[in-house]
Amino acid sequence: MGSSLRDGLRVPVHRDFDLAEIDPDGSPGLPKIKGSHHKVWGRAQLTVIGADLGIMQEQLFATAKVGDTQQRVVLVLQAMDCGGKDGTVKKVAGTMNPSGLSIVGFGKPTPEELAHDFLWRIRKAVPEPGIIGVFNRSHYEDVLVARVHNLVPSEVWEARYDQINVFEAELAAAGVTLVKVMLHISKNEQAKRLAERLDDPTKYWKYNPGDLDERGFWDDYQAAYAAALSKCSTEVAPWYVVPANRKWYRDWAVASLLRDALTDLHLSYPPPTFDVKVERKRLARA
Ligand code: ATP
Ligand code: MG
Repeated sequence: MGSSLRDGLRVPVHRDFDLAEIDPDGSPGLPKIKGSHHKVWGRAQLTVIGADLGIMQEQLFATAKVGDTQQRVVLVLQAMDCGGKDGTVKKVAGTMNPSGLSIVGFGKPTPEELAHDFLWRIRKAVPEPGIIGVFNRSHYEDVLVARVHNLVPSEVWEARYDQINVFEAELAAAGVTLVKVMLHISKNEQAKRLAERLDDPTKYWKYNPGDLDERGFWDDYQAAYAAALSKCSTEVAPWYVVPANRKWYRDWAVASLLRDALTDLHLSYPPPTFDVKVERKRLARA
């Protein structure tokens, strides 16, 4: 089940890919269940998957604490505005121990960041072994917003796809598993979510008037996403597109992709670094 979901959502490597063919209302990979109780099923499954994530995160953390593993995992989240990155962090990462998490948001680069190569701030944010990182936006902004708004000359952003692939291959070789997810919403869904933010005083803080200007560039962003996903979906670091109009499906799918990635690491609790029998005897005397 898990791996078939992965196959269904993966952006093909070295093959044509059309983002517009993916339905943001879709919910691929769900089992057949009677009636229309998928939402209830999805929310219940998230709890089950969350428990698995919690255990595997602890195993990863424990292995790094007592051993010399280089293993770590980074969930990369990209989406249009209102795409649900924050909700996904809350629902999916929220199932794990915060001590083993590193959640980093990448906004407009600071003057210091701009003075460096675009990957500089990303390299600094790669978590230590044993930690699960979540990137809320990422180095992909440098081929998305940078391309849409010509923040740099085209030769510069065009060269970045290859630079990203080299960088991600280096990370993979260093023990970093990347789970790259685009949360795919429709233009109508974005309008709905913007309206919700304007209609609810508890959501004003989430509303950014600039998002409406960006909405005017919707098609350019979709084209930039399509290019980034197809050029940078590789064997070592594939991209996944998660239809994200339905929040319960989005959370279930992202949690499932993360669980699959952790399962591939064949984690377990580390064996003792001491003699258990001896320690029991010592304890009895202590
Ligand atoms: P929310 O959904 O809550 O608004 P957000 O991720 O949009 O969260 P903001 O602080 O509103 O967070 O926006 C971050 C902004 O920074 C985005 O507009 C994004 O395009 C921009 N940004 C991120 N990385 C870069 C980059 N490398 N170059 C230019 N702009 C960037
Ligand atoms: Mg924003």
